[in-house]
Amino acid sequence: MPYLHAPEDLAELVGDGPAYRVAQLRSWLYETPVLQAGDMTNLPKDLRERLEPLWPFEVETEQTADGGATKKWLFRAPDGAAFEAVLMGYPRRVTLCISSQAGCALGCTFCATGQFGFERHLQAGEIVAQVAYARAYLRKHGLPGSPTRLTNVVFMGMGEPMANYDRVREAIRRMIEVMGMSARSITVSTVGVVPGIRRLTEEKWPVSLAVSLHAADDELRSRLVPINKRYPIDELVDAARTYFERKGRRVSIEWTMIDGVNDTDDQAFKLAGVAHHLKAHVNLIALNPTPLSTDRASAEPRIESFARLLREQGVNVTVRDTRGKDIDAACGQLRIKSTRGKGIGALSTAG
Ligand code: SF4
Repeated sequence: MPYLHAPEDLAELVGDGPAYRVAQLRSWLYETPVLQAGDMTNLPKDLRERLEPLWPFEVETEQTADGGATKKWLFRAPDGAAFEAVLMGYPRRVTLCISSQAGCALGCTFCATGQFGFERHLQAGEIVAQVAYARAYLRKHGLPGSPTRLTNVVFMGMGEPMANYDRVREAIRRMIEVMGMSARSITVSTVGVVPGIRRLTEEKWPVSLAVSLHAADDELRSRLVPINKRYPIDELVDAARTYFERKGRRVSIEWTMIDGVNDTDDQAFKLAGVAHHLKAHVNLIALNPTPLSTDRASAEPRIESFARLLREQGVNVTVRDTRGKDIDAACGQLRIKSTRGKGIGALSTAG
C-alpha cells in the first residue's frame, strides 16, 4: 500500500521503472497528494493501476455540516477497521482532526470511542494518509470561506496517540520532514499517558501538546478518565510542565463541561491552579451526548460562569464552539456503526 511503505522505500513499488519515478510517486503521495492513484498524471498507466488497489483505505461515507465548512469521513481499511477524520474550515485556517487508533482501550466515561472499545492501532501510513486525503480534498474541492491549504492537524480523533507512540511518531516525522508541515501546526492530545509525554519531550520536533484533563482532583479524574489511576494528576502535570519548559511550547488543557460533575466552582479553582503551574491555555468544550451515558452538557450560563471564574484567576480561557454536532462529528460524540461485520467503532475528538 503506497502509504504503508515509508517514503524512503517507494522504489519497491515502482519496480523496474526509471529512477525518477520514485521521486514522482513520492511527490504525489506527500507533496501534492491526490484522491486516487488515477490522478497521478505523469505516472504510466500500468503503475497507476498497480497502485490503485494499494490505497490504505476507502472512503465509506462523507458527511457535511456547518454549511459545508465541516466534513467528516469514515475510512475503511481492507481488513475492515474503521476510523474517522473531521476537516473543519475557518476564515483563516483549516484544521484536520485525525485518528491514531481504530477505537480506544482507555474507556473515558464521556467519550463515544471509550464506550465502544478498542479495535486496533493504526499504522503510520494509515495516519498520514488521512492528512494526505484532506490535503488532496482541499486542493480539489476546498471548503467555503476557508483557505485551500491545510494549516493544522490535531490528534484528537479516535484513540489515544500516546498508546500508539511509535506509529504516531513515524506519522509525525513524515508530516514534518516529507510533507513540509511545521511542527507547531501539529497538536498531539493525550488524556495523560505520562511515558508518552516524556518520550515526546525527547523528540526534536516542537509539536504542540494538549492535555485532556477534564477533572482537577484525582478522585473525580479517576472516575472520568480511568488511566488517571495509573498516572495521577501530579505526575501528568509534572510531565506536561517539563514538556513546556524544554520545548518552549504553551501546553493547552482540554476540559469537557459535564453538568453537575466537573463544572463546579471548586473544580474551576483547582483547574486554575493547574493552569497557572503549566502556564496553559484552557479550552472548555460542552459535553456532547454519547450513546451509553446519561451525562449532559453543562448549561451555557454555567459554562460562562466557570470561564469567568478562571479568567478572574488570571487563566486564558476559550469556550470552544462545537462543530459537526448534527453529523455526530463533535467532540466525544462521533461514532461509527459498522456495516461490514466489524461491530461498532467510535471516534471522539475529546481525547
Ligand atoms: S477520550 Fe480519548 S483516551 Fe479517552 S476513551 Fe476517548 S479516545 Fe480514548
